Amino acid sequence: MRIAIIGSGPASAGTLLALHKEVPDADVTVFDIGKEPQITPVSDRAPQEWSIDEYDQLHHQIKEQFGLAFPPPKTFFGQGLKKHPAGQNAKPFISEFYGGLSRHWSASVFPFVPGNFKGWPLGLDELTPYYNEIAEHIGISGAHDRLNSYFGEDFVNLPAIDVPAPLTRLDQHVNAQRDQKGDYDIISGLNRLAVDTRKDSANSCVYCGECMYGCFRSAIYDATKTVGAFRASGFVKSFVAERVRKVSSKDRSVTVETEKGRHNGFDKLFLAAGCFGTSEILMRSTGLSKGITVKDNNSYVFPIFYFGGGLPKDDHSKYISITNTVLGIVPKDEKGVYAHVHISPFADYYWRYYFPVGAWRYLSRGASIFKARMILAKMYFPTEVSKSYALSLDVSDKLLVDKLDYGPSDQYAKAVLKHLRRVVSGNGFILPPLKLVRMSTSSHYVGAFPYAGTDVSVARSGEVMPNVHIADSSVFPESPAQTLTFTIMANAARTATEAVNG
Ligand SMILES: Cc1cc2nc3c(=O)[nH]c(=O)nc-3n(C[C@H](O)[C@H](O)[C@H](O)COP(=O)(O)OP(=O)(O)OC[C@H]3O[C@@H](n4cnc5c(N)ncnc54)[C@H](O)[C@@H]3O)c2cc1C
Ligand code: SF4
Repeated sequence: MRIAIIGSGPASAGTLLALHKEVPDADVTVFDIGKEPQITPVSDRAPQEWSIDEYDQLHHQIKEQFGLAFPPPKTFFGQGLKKHPAGQNAKPFISEFYGGLSRHWSASVFPFVPGNFKGWPLGLDELTPYYNEIAEHIGISGAHDRLNSYFGEDFVNLPAIDVPAPLTRLDQHVNAQRDQKGDYDIISGLNRLAVDTRKDSANSCVYCGECMYGCFRSAIYDATKTVGAFRASGFVKSFVAERVRKVSSKDRSVTVETEKGRHNGFDKLFLAAGCFGTSEILMRSTGLSKGITVKDNNSYVFPIFYFGGGLPKDDHSKYISITNTVLGIVPKDEKGVYAHVHISPFADYYWRYYFPVGAWRYLSRGASIFKARMILAKMYFPTEVSKSYALSLDVSDKLLVDKLDYGPSDQYAKAVLKHLRRVVSGNGFILPPLKLVRMSTSSHYVGAFPYAGTDVSVARSGEVMPNVHIADSSVFPESPAQTLTFTIMANAARTATEAVNG
């Protein structure tokens, strides 16, 4: 069986895992834009060994791309992501690197809950075996804690991360309040992370705190680990580093047209180019030059301060700077909106980003005290109350992405913040009354070719044209407030399994 996959991100990884299990003798070709990030040469050395000049070089590269952004961007050793200029507070990421957006992601992996499958042709029970397979492959750190009361099964199989004292205190402070007044119950627990926390592993996290630059230990899972392993083993026989323009299907045989030529004779094709990438290819392939909508979760950022006592007198240099804990904002009314708040320490990266790197030796002591006192919170809302983009192809066949609508999430954010302030304040914690700061994108994109869509029919197996299957989040009708990539990978594995056995 000749199989083509477009993309090398998490959806591609999930597809490959299932194909390797179901059709191990298949002849697999992966097509991918496949750009390699331009990285500074520090990428394989511990940050303690990076010189001031090297930090300077890194920040110079970051500033050249972004100027002074807020919040500061997560980069891959200086390489950031380009964005579609879709409008005010609306700049979704462009995915063009080998490994997709997972080269830059923060590896938070939560499953969907039963209510998140509205409009799907299947439910949580049917996806659970695939969640298990993906969890086994990527490894998930965490603990069975209060978040399980909302999320059910956690799929955790790696030791929990060590969390800085103020964040642990916040977690305990929130969970101690079982009888909350108002419209929400706020629960707290450890983030579920695709990060290697096994002390004896060659890739284990060493708490260097510099995740915002990229992980020199490769402790954070990214899709190149899976796609690269299948390339090395020979299961992926061919890797074509070209941008795909469109696909076609005739007499059940599929053709892929790239910028450089045509590749014929595939028995099956899986579209795993991310929601924007897959949409662009499908729009060209089906002749739909407009009328496609992509949804993005609205998100906000704010600080929480800790002025209480009981903190260890260390230099606070050992930490992981991606999300450590999560506050689940669970509505008491079942028709209410669930919000998901990522809690992280205030990383040294932010200081170096806003102040000259050379000043670091004078700032580091103040930063250490500040780090023990300041907590960064990012709050996410479901796509049902968030922004959307209109996609179109212009006369020269180029993809245009324009904001359609911001959605009503501000009003929910204000209500949640009011409740959150009541629950968080006290015991040394302060959530100051600041103006809402909106983030320009969540990096979670769904909904272009949804299951049960009215314009284009998509089967349960993701089949959208004969033997052409969508394997990424383009088919998700909505994206809930918690992260979605675990579900992208599990559903890609299910799609591939059902497609080759159907
Ligand atoms: C800063 C950041 C933090 C994030 N943190 C999290 C998190 O903590 N948890 C979480 O769940 N998610 C997170 N995400 C989102 C997550 O990375 C994405 O949901 C995930 O990568 C989507 O996987 P995908 O394979 O569907 O698409 P992508 O990762 O976008 O991969 C698409 C692939 O298709 C290729 N491609 C695109 N168009 C074409 C074309 N025309 N021809 C050939 N190839 C093409 C690209 O090169 C790429 O390899 C984050 C993202 C970012 C940017
Ligand atoms: S703290 Fe972050 S960058 Fe450092 S080893 Fe751990 S995951 Fe990697």
